[in-house]
Formats: sequence, C-alpha cells, structure tokens
Amino acid sequence: MAQPRMYVMIPIDADTALIGGREVKSRFSSEIARHGLSDEVAVMETGSFGPSNQGVLAAVQPDGVVYGNLTPEKAAEIVREHLVKGRVCGRFFLPGEYPPTVKEAMQERPRGEAGRIVLDNCGRINPESIEEYIAADGYEALGRAVSEMTPEQVLEEVKQSGLRGRGGAGFPTGVKWGFCAPCKAERKFVICNADEGEPGTFKDRLIMEGDPHKVIEGMALCAYAISASEGFVYIRGEYKLSISRMRQAIDEARRLGLLGKNIFGSDFNFDLEIKIGAGAYICGEETALLESMEGKRGVPRMKPPFPAEKGYLGYPTNVNNVETLAAVPAIIRCGAAWFKGMGTESTPGTKVYTIIGHVQRPGLIEVSAGVTLREIINEYADGMSEGKFKMAQLGGTAGDVLGTEMLDVPMDYDAMQKVGHVLGSGAILIMNQSVGIGEFLDCCMQFFLHESCGNCNPCRNGLKVLKDITGRFKQGKAYAGDIELMEEVSMTMKSAAFCPLGQSPAAPLMSALRYFRPELEAAIDPTMERPRTQRVRLELAELMV
Ligand code: SF4
Repeated sequence: MAQPRMYVMIPIDADTALIGGREVKSRFSSEIARHGLSDEVAVMETGSFGPSNQGVLAAVQPDGVVYGNLTPEKAAEIVREHLVKGRVCGRFFLPGEYPPTVKEAMQERPRGEAGRIVLDNCGRINPESIEEYIAADGYEALGRAVSEMTPEQVLEEVKQSGLRGRGGAGFPTGVKWGFCAPCKAERKFVICNADEGEPGTFKDRLIMEGDPHKVIEGMALCAYAISASEGFVYIRGEYKLSISRMRQAIDEARRLGLLGKNIFGSDFNFDLEIKIGAGAYICGEETALLESMEGKRGVPRMKPPFPAEKGYLGYPTNVNNVETLAAVPAIIRCGAAWFKGMGTESTPGTKVYTIIGHVQRPGLIEVSAGVTLREIINEYADGMSEGKFKMAQLGGTAGDVLGTEMLDVPMDYDAMQKVGHVLGSGAILIMNQSVGIGEFLDCCMQFFLHESCGNCNPCRNGLKVLKDITGRFKQGKAYAGDIELMEEVSMTMKSAAFCPLGQSPAAPLMSALRYFRPELEAAIDPTMERPRTQRVRLELAELMV
C-alpha cells in the first residue's frame, strides 16, 4: 500500500466495542474499498479519545474533523461525502457549532498546557502496534536506562521527580522502590496493580486499552531500578479488552527482545505475565492482591512484613498502580526536572481523572496536578448537564464527599490533606441537587457491605449497622441518635478494621456530615422510636467502651 494521504482513526475501547465500534470500523473499511480509496485512506484503531457519552467516534486526519455517535450507515455516508467528495458531514459533528479537532475531542484545554504524559498516545496510535509505540518515542527510555544509566540512577531520577503513587495513597514512588531495591533475594517481582475496583474509576482500563506498551515499559524500568527480573500485571477479570491488548503487547515486546533476556544487549533480564483477578474489590489492596495471585482467598495480610521485603511467594515485591508506572517512561526520557516543572510542588506532573455524573462531558482527562474541581467541571467537563452542583465524591466509593466550599481547592495530595480530604485514585463523581445525601450514602454502604470479605468483626458487623442507619436516612425515618451512632461506628471501624475496606466507610460518612449535617438531621423522624433490641445492644456497647 502506498503512503495513505488520509487516516480515519476510530477509538475502540471496551465501551465503544460494546456499542458497535468494530462494526463502524469495518463499514469504513469496506466503503473505502468499494470507492477504490484503499491506497489513499487508512482506517486505524486507537485507544479512547476521552469522552464517554458521545458514542462511537471517528477522526478524519489530517483534516482534524471528529464525528460522533456513529453507526455503520453514518460511516458509509462520511466515506461518500467527506472522503470521496471532500464535503464534511456537519450533522454528524459532536454537539457544538463547529467541527471539533481531535485535541478538543480529547478535552485538552489551555490549562493542560503541560501536555499529556500518561495519555499522550491514547487516541493517537494503534495500541496493537508496537511499531507505532516505538515511532512515538516508545522504549526509548528503557533503551537509555539500560545502556547509559545504572539502576541507582534510574531510581534516583524517579525519586527526584517527586512522582507519587496514583492508585490513591499518593506515596512517593521513588521512596517505595527504594524499600525494595536493596533487598537481596533469589527472586524479586514487580507487580502492576490493574485491579481498579473503585466504582467510577476506569482510567487504568483506558490506559491499558489505549497504550499498553507504556505500562510494560514503566514496569521494565521499575524492574531495572530495583533489580527484579520477573513481573506480573494483575488485571481484573472483567477487563477483557485490557487483558487481550496487554497480552498482545507483551508478546510483541518479547518478539522484539524488549522483554526477555539481555534487553538492549545488556545483562538486564525481565519478563512479564498476566494474572487475572476474579473481580473482588478487596484484591485492589496490595496484600490481598498477593494472596489472590498465590491462589488463595483474597484477604489482606498483616503488615509488617511489607511486600517490599516479603511479597509474592515470600520474595521482595514492588506493587504500583497502572497510572504510576505509565508515568515513568516520560520521566526517564525527559528528566525529573522536566516532570517537576508541571503540577504543584507537592504533586508534580499530571493526574488522570475519570469524570462521571451530572456533567455535559463525562469521560477521561489528564490535567496538571493542582487544577481545581471547579475548573474540572467547567473547563474539562463543559459544566453541569442539569441542575446546580451539590456535591462531588473523589476517588470512588471509599472517597470523601465534597461540598461547594471545596470547589476552589487545588486538587493535589497535600492541598487536599490540608483541608481534611484525600485526593484518591482519580474518580470524580459530580452530583446535582436532585441527589439526596441519605440516598447516596446508603448506596455507598450497600457497596461496602457487598464487598466486605467478612474476615474481621468491626467491618463485618459494623457495616450492617451502618447500612441500617443510612437506609433510615434515605427513607427520612432515622432515629434520634442515628448521627452519633453513625459517627461512633464508622470511627471505630476506621481504627479497628483490619484493612482499608473496613476503614473506608468513615470517609464518605464523616465528610458528608461535615457538609450536609442539616439534611441528615432533617431526615430524623421524632415519632420513630428505636426498637428495644437496638437500645439494649447500644447500652451493652457503651458498657464495653
Ligand atoms: Fe475483610 Fe473488611 Fe476486615 Fe478488610 S476490614 S479484612 S474487608 S472484613
């Protein structure tokens, strides 16, 4: 085939594959062939552009026109009109008065002038082609690291960059690697945590679907820095497309000698495998993940020892989240100083968010760390879709609920901590006035109750009590004293539950109380009397305290 003069780029992720993305792609291909344009126009599959409510998209390049909500019939018409006659099909544009460019469809805004680091290839290259990744500077960082840098220098560069774990905790990545690096053992492992169980979080899935080689390269750099030679990507079982694209990418990297023995002719050996999780929320916790990988029931381990010292099969293991690892190649390629020039002092670089809820444009974005919630809603999500902003939940069900007072706080780890909140993993749920706080909290408790592994008493029993209370708030039939009981039980769980799942219900409950106490108080029905069985239980609990 001669060099094509035009490209039709179609983002295929798990969502668009379900709503007919592949049918649209195949119709584009067949229509292009039917019109005799196969030598001039290439049809390309890419990862997600970002928006998640605009159906199947297609970008015609280099014209820079993006069409949305496509069907095979619309694809045929675009070929006939745009590709054959050169007339753009205005009625298939995304909402707006002009055809959006690919940049605009990806919601890259001026504030994102730092550019994308993690998502830079998503929507721009074919995730199933290692050649396209290499053409976009892929594996350059790994090549440079193993040929020109010592493992200590790679580790120091990541430390200096200030990169913090993007899975939610925000722990400095270089420091974490530094725990594992000096451990001497026969075997050492790097694990990519791609379990991503928080409701509303799907950034890791879209990173793996859109740019799987970046995750592999990040893992290989980590392995080089800590002297590990084996790695695993632990992916939740529902992520079928992520699994298949990661698998294919691993095979391709192996084929080109970028995984395996003597990488880039050095004495560095590293290979990777995929482990598939069964979808238990608790397996996102790194020690429960290790148990699950070892074929046991996914329950958390007692710490210490920490995985850095005694992890998978008892060997030193470093576990990082997908987004964290995907940021590493750019840090090694462009340097720690470059990375630190973006974001804020305490959270350098960018942050990937998934926005869902009552906004005009839900989906995936990558912005400079420190952008405020108000900017995210108005500039990146194009504002509220209906009604006025009431609250947001950051980081999934285990995250804090924020009221309007927090709209202008910079979203970085330290700034959020200063105002008593946690940034979390990157899920942002935006809610308008139609959502009742009791109804919302009841939903959260239902989720925790369902996902608790039942291993420890505070979580197993505490969640039942909390679910009963939030159920009463939802119905406007709460007992006097329910707010205090909710505080007491959730704070007891926070200090006594064995793992983060049982410690987490306090986050949405206590933050909701901070902003919406009057609404919860209004749900107390003075005519309701607490049943005697509950009173006795409470009195007993007080005696025990
Ligand atoms: Fe299991 Fe909950 Fe205890 Fe964690 S806190 S170990 S999820 S019962």
